[in-house]
Amino acid sequence: MGTTLTFYDGVDTIGGTKIHLESRGRGILLDFGQNFKNESNFYEEYLKPRSTRGIYDYFTLGLLPPLDIYREDLIPADLARKELKAVDLDGVLVTHAHMDHVGYIGLLKREIPIFSSPMSAAILKSIQDTGVGGVPREIAYMKERERTEDEDRVLKSKSYRKTPSSGRDFYLTSRPSEELLDFWSDTPSRRGHEAGKLSEVNENDKPLPFQWFEVSHSIYGATAYCVKTEDGWIVYTGDLRFHGKKGDKTKKFVKEASKLNAKVLITEGTRTGREETENETEEDVYQNCLTATESEDNLVIGDFSPRNLERLETFLKIAEKTGRKLVATTKDGYALDSLRCVDGVDRASRVRVYKDLTVWKRRRKWEKQVLEKFEEQTIDPQEISKNPGQYILCFSFWDIKNLLDIMPEGGSYIYSTSEAYTEEQELDVERLWEWLQFFNLKAVGFELRKENGETKLDFKKGYHCSGHAAPDELLRMIEEIDPEIVVPVHTEDPEFFSENLEGRGVEILQDGDRIELG
Ligand SMILES: [Zn+2]
Repeated sequence: MGTTLTFYDGVDTIGGTKIHLESRGRGILLDFGQNFKNESNFYEEYLKPRSTRGIYDYFTLGLLPPLDIYREDLIPADLARKELKAVDLDGVLVTHAHMDHVGYIGLLKREIPIFSSPMSAAILKSIQDTGVGGVPREIAYMKERERTEDEDRVLKSKSYRKTPSSGRDFYLTSRPSEELLDFWSDTPSRRGHEAGKLSEVNENDKPLPFQWFEVSHSIYGATAYCVKTEDGWIVYTGDLRFHGKKGDKTKKFVKEASKLNAKVLITEGTRTGREETENETEEDVYQNCLTATESEDNLVIGDFSPRNLERLETFLKIAEKTGRKLVATTKDGYALDSLRCVDGVDRASRVRVYKDLTVWKRRRKWEKQVLEKFEEQTIDPQEISKNPGQYILCFSFWDIKNLLDIMPEGGSYIYSTSEAYTEEQELDVERLWEWLQFFNLKAVGFELRKENGETKLDFKKGYHCSGHAAPDELLRMIEEIDPEIVVPVHTEDPEFFSENLEGRGVEILQDGDRIELG
């Protein structure tokens, strides 16, 4: 058999990408993400898959491909291994650390190594160290489970006293620094830790030969891959954009990929189904948020996605320009410190770290570490209430309850994150609006109006920029790479590609579809 590409998930949704590439006895996954849309068909915040049942719930609901690639310790007695089809799998090529691309990797056998940029590895570990857990998120290291003595359909974690967490091997696109190796070797947990290998990838480590390219996206460390098979090159964009600080890197990727005579191009198409076509850049965001901050004497709050560290840097720049101090959450502090392990830039020492009201005993170990390490820089809510005009507070909707300890009276809340696309997200923004009314905070970046009893949300341009290329940029990219076959993924409107690229071999697929080459 020649080369096959199986698209298990994520061809007509934004995210959840799970693509299996098999070629002459070698196999790789191109991302293995969480499909938030499919998961939300069954689950919500307080209704989750049961961790005591391992992969059973995910598997039974069809959220996982029926392949024999999952951790043995997550298979309860009533899930027959024979239902899982054997495939070749020698590694996962991770494009970036967003959960819709990596969120299910924790379920994969520990022996399956990850290939990623050092930045993605650091971000993934930092998310895991500070997260609330969950088996699918055990990406960098895992807590082994075992069947319970009296009920073998139920799984429990092995004792933390006897069983250290065991790490997964990561092969990196460049050499890890000493600091990163150090960060990798330990976890903030009472459980012991046997770290996985962390080393620069060499040709022998690769299941199939591949090239990698850094690209621009709304998270650091994003990578596109070109995999060489005997039946031609397979190019996978991951998520990318041409604007932003690293837009030139994306252009370079396209240029290099165009030299390969690619057989297949798997391209993201996030924005094809959306109305907005303009590209705001991070520089526009900086200018607009700066203007909003300059015209405010009172407290400024910046709301952006916790993993968007580029945005955090933008706000850091604004704070320094306007003579304010940036106040970050402990989680941001931890993330900034792990970022330093990769690029050597010390950002954490330039921020104050918000110390929320909790007793010390109840804090988690990573949080204690951050508060101890940055003890001089911690800030109490009361200190902010005294001089609110001296700070920019990095809070998202989920942190907003802490404002009750600051009790701001006026100020600006800059909504610098993606607009609400789903009903649930809209409900959150409506709640956010109530909080802002309560504290008399001015909303910047969005507006809520009531019209004939109906709620209308307007999101203003320029306070956030997309992590994704505009539709016409994608078309130009495809023309330039000029592949034989184009497969759109990560989109709700795959037809956009067939409509705009007639005669270019666009394949509109369904989840589970397979392409055979050679
Ligand atoms: Zn992404």
